[in-house]
Amino acid sequence: MMKLVYTHENHFIVGNIKNLIEAQNIKVFIKNEFSQGAMGEVSAFDCWPEVWVFDDNDLEAATAILKQSQQSKNIADWVCANCNEKNDPAFEVCWNCNNEAP
Ligand SMILES: [Zn+2]
Repeated sequence: MMKLVYTHENHFIVGNIKNLIEAQNIKVFIKNEFSQGAMGEVSAFDCWPEVWVFDDNDLEAATAILKQSQQSKNIADWVCANCNEKNDPAFEVCWNCNNEAP
């Protein structure tokens, strides 16, 4: 069984989460990857991109990776000092301009 791990309106953030989990040798894929328009745009469609694990046995590990990445950094979303984009706490650099997190 495939299971949903994470979803976010920003597909760059979802892609980063996918990479994070894949780095631990867990097979994941993205659903609704191309349902959005230009980056940062709020979609007219009510379907955010989603990260899924192929095997529900991997769900726990994937969720743990997600939590760990969020706990090790800031708890809250951060705003990029360079371009003012909001970033997920899991990310060390801005998804939009690659500026470093404060
Ligand atoms: Zn930025």
